[in-house]
Amino acid sequence: MPLNLFIIGPSGCGKSTQAKLIAQKYNLTHLSMGQLLRDEIAAKSGFGDEAKSYLDGGKLVPDDLIFDILISKLNSLNNQNFIIDGFPRVLNQGKYIEYYLKKINQPFSLLIHLSVTFEEINSRRSKKGDEFQDQDRTDNTPEAIKSRQQFYDDAIASIRDYFKSKKLFFDVDGNRPVEPIFEDICTKIDNIK
Ligand code: AMP
Repeated sequence: MPLNLFIIGPSGCGKSTQAKLIAQKYNLTHLSMGQLLRDEIAAKSGFGDEAKSYLDGGKLVPDDLIFDILISKLNSLNNQNFIIDGFPRVLNQGKYIEYYLKKINQPFSLLIHLSVTFEEINSRRSKKGDEFQDQDRTDNTPEAIKSRQQFYDDAIASIRDYFKSKKLFFDVDGNRPVEPIFEDICTKIDNIK
């Protein structure tokens, strides 16, 4: 059965780490919405120029732009199955991708939410110090981080309600080391296959 997965969680929660492990184990293409945006910015494309001020301010990039970038990437994959990290970040994005996948006869298999407290993220950040700053990231200023965190709780509540009612949502406790989190996610994935 083909598998298309999504993993979301607050910035700095470790979703990319989990997404890479999941992609490797289940042979999926790993896409990171944040990285796709940073690639566009680095390439100085029209999309990138439009997206840059939102990223730098810790604000969500408007849905239209997100869909353009993501859908053109998915088209280029020719139906390879995937895990996308950092998407959907608002309910509208979730409904859109659900509709899109239905249209191309592909399943929306599961949305994984890595639930990590902001205290845990801030403590990980301060422990890692400069190491945490990815070289190509310009949006880890305290203001951008704060803006992302404030927005987060509201958005996740509506995404959770919507996908939980369809049994497509999995909350996993992310305030733990990488391995037990990964194990819990795999158990869940193995149950839907
Ligand atoms: P991330 O690498 O997931 O932390 O994302 C970095 C930044 O990219 C976010 O703070 C947003 O500005 C933007 N971004 C990433 N994913 C999305 C999305 N699904 N919708 C809107 N903006 C996004």
